Amino acid sequence: MRIAGGAGAAYRPGMISFHRCCAVAILSAAAACSSGEHAATATAGAAMAGAAMADAPATDQPTAGTRLVLLGTGTPNPDPDRSGPAVAVVVNGEPYLVDAGPGVVRRAAAAAGRGVEALEVDRLRTVFITHLHSDHTLGLPDLIFTPWVLERTAPLEVYGPPGVRAMVEHLSEAYSEDVRIRLEGLEPANRSGYRVIAHEVEPGVVFQDANVRVTAFAVSHGSWEHAYGYRFETADRTIVVSGDTAPTEAIVEACRGCDVLVHEVYSASAFEGREAIWQRYHASFHTSSAELAKLAERARPGVLVLYHQLLWGSSPEELLAEIRRGWDGDVRFGRDLQVY
Ligand SMILES: [Zn+2]
Ligand SMILES: [Zn+2]
Repeated sequence: MRIAGGAGAAYRPGMISFHRCCAVAILSAAAACSSGEHAATATAGAAMAGAAMADAPATDQPTAGTRLVLLGTGTPNPDPDRSGPAVAVVVNGEPYLVDAGPGVVRRAAAAAGRGVEALEVDRLRTVFITHLHSDHTLGLPDLIFTPWVLERTAPLEVYGPPGVRAMVEHLSEAYSEDVRIRLEGLEPANRSGYRVIAHEVEPGVVFQDANVRVTAFAVSHGSWEHAYGYRFETADRTIVVSGDTAPTEAIVEACRGCDVLVHEVYSASAFEGREAIWQRYHASFHTSSAELAKLAERARPGVLVLYHQLLWGSSPEELLAEIRRGWDGDVRFGRDLQVY
C-alpha cells in the first residue's frame, strides 16, 4: 500500500491508525485531520482508497520498505504539541534520525508504542544533524544517554557539520559524573552504549549501508557557515529533509521529483506583521510559504510535508492556502508522529 504520493513502500502499519480523509498515517490519537489540512491529499489518497485506507491488523509489523516518521515538527517555541525538530527515516526496520530537537527520545518512544518498533529507544543509534542551532540539538544528550540507560550497547553515531564533534565531546564531559555513577555504582550499566562516535562530514555522500544512501547538501541558513539538508535514497523511496534554510537552489537539485520533501516554512502573510528586525532575520535564515511554493514548483516532490512551521498567529489552513497559491501539488501540514 502507499503511504503518500510518490513511490510508496509496501507497508503494513501495525497498530497505526489511518485517518480516512487522507493518505497519511497518524500515530497520535489527538492529531487533527481537518479537510483544510488534508484537502490536497485527495489525489494521492485516491490511489489508496478502499483497502489501503482501512486499519491494518494490530499484530502485523512492517519489516520492509521505507517510512518517514515525524518525531518533532516544532521550532524554538516550546509548543507542548510539537517537539523540537527531528524526523526518522525507517528503512527495513532500521531507524535513521535527522536532528535531535528537545523531546526526540520521548517522541520515538511514542512512535514505538504505536507500532513503529524500529523506534524503540534502545534501537536509536544513528543521527544526522543538519546544523548546530540549539532547537535542533537540545535532544542530543537525551539521544546519547537515555537509550544507554535503557540498555543500548551500541555507541551513538552522530553525523553532522564541522563543530558537531566538539559539541558531543562537551556533552560527554558534562555528563561524565552521571556515567561514572552508573558504571561504578550498583546500576547494571554496559560500558559501550554511552559513547558517541562523531563524524564531521562535508557535502556529498556521507553514509551508505545495505538500506540507504545518505547525501548531505549545503543549504543557506543565514550566518551559519555550515548547515545541511539530507537526501535519503532507498530501494523504494527518495526522501529529502531541508533542515533550516532560506530558499536555495540546493533543494531543487536534491529533490528532483523525490517522493517526499520535508521542508521548513514560515507564513508569508504573518511575516508582514513582524517587526523589521525579525523580518531581516527570518528572510535570511528561513523560507516563506510563497518562496517554498516556487521551490516546490521546480523540485516537484510527490508530497511536500511542512515542518518547523512558523505561523505567528496564522492557522495551518492559511499556511497551506499560501503554498497552494503558488503550487498545486500535494502539500501537508506536518504534525508530530505522522508517518509518510
Ligand atoms: Zn530551527
Ligand atoms: Zn536553525
